[in-house]
Amino acid sequence: MVARIAIVSRIVRRASIIGFFPPMTRAHPSRFAGAAALVALVLHPTFVAAQARPDSTTSVETEAPTITLTPRQPGIGSLVRLTIRRASRPSDSLAAVAGSMAGEPLHFQADDSGDLRAFGPVPIEVSDSVVARVVLSYASGEADSLRLAIPYPHRPTPTGGRPARARRLRVSRVYTARPDSLTEQRIEREAQQARAVGRRAHDTPQLWSQPFLRPRSSRITSGFGSGRVFNGRLTSSHGGVDFAGQPGDAVRAANRGVVALVGSFFLAGNVVYVDHGAGVVTGYFHLTEATVTEGDTVERGQQIGLVGATGRVTGPHLHWSARYGQQTFDPMGLIELTAEPRTTRRAPARAGIR
Ligand SMILES: [Zn+2]
Repeated sequence: MVARIAIVSRIVRRASIIGFFPPMTRAHPSRFAGAAALVALVLHPTFVAAQARPDSTTSVETEAPTITLTPRQPGIGSLVRLTIRRASRPSDSLAAVAGSMAGEPLHFQADDSGDLRAFGPVPIEVSDSVVARVVLSYASGEADSLRLAIPYPHRPTPTGGRPARARRLRVSRVYTARPDSLTEQRIEREAQQARAVGRRAHDTPQLWSQPFLRPRSSRITSGFGSGRVFNGRLTSSHGGVDFAGQPGDAVRAANRGVVALVGSFFLAGNVVYVDHGAGVVTGYFHLTEATVTEGDTVERGQQIGLVGATGRVTGPHLHWSARYGQQTFDPMGLIELTAEPRTTRRAPARAGIR
């Protein structure tokens, strides 16, 4: 038994060199395996060569589960879904699944077909690659180790160029002037509070079962990641999605969860953070006021606050943010990944619905 574990681990390690594993298309000639091969092809250009190589260990490789990624080419700062299809083990049962991606724990749940699914984050500061590792432990004491590496270009430290999508805003000096040290301390303290909410969300069970909703049905005025140029100087990338709105318009919870934080922040103004569990948190910024309090359980679509212009803003709107643990990601990913119909199995690596 111990020897078999070692063999699986060794094969897994070798396969991971090509950025994906296991190379088992021949052993599992299903639609799913075909899609997995497609993913691997995208993930690493040497995949074709690896597939063409004669393989004398197929009998062992058929024991290994497969892991696929949705979307297949996730952008920087995006949420992904990992799907593990387990190999059939007639005389053994799964005892535990543990995994991590970008330093955050993964929360796998079995779907109707027995596949294991979890969200994972691609950090906004990713460079070179992001790696997911999963260990499936069985009642017999055996285990499968899975590793998925998604390559990204190496990103040198920014030198201050203006990105193609940057928006040029002319605003009061109060926004570009360096804040005094007390204000800097306040900003850091509030950032720590928000990070702590994300950390604690890993300890909350998944509280939603339906797809995520937009917090407002209005027009998106600024998407995630668009650069901000204040008075000709690039200051930061946009860590959320802005929705149009007038003061007093309703802001709705994107899904069921518990209100983890209601605060009045220097940058974000009046904020509400909702902990949806399984590591997922959404934030609603610049509110005129929150209409919920910490500890409230909110339902999907329930009003939680009113649009406003509090904090560092140039006008009233809703800024919607999301975190997986401590990693900020584009909240639209929650809508895209949870809205996909079940028929997606035929093309699990399909690009986003956007
Ligand atoms: Zn915003």
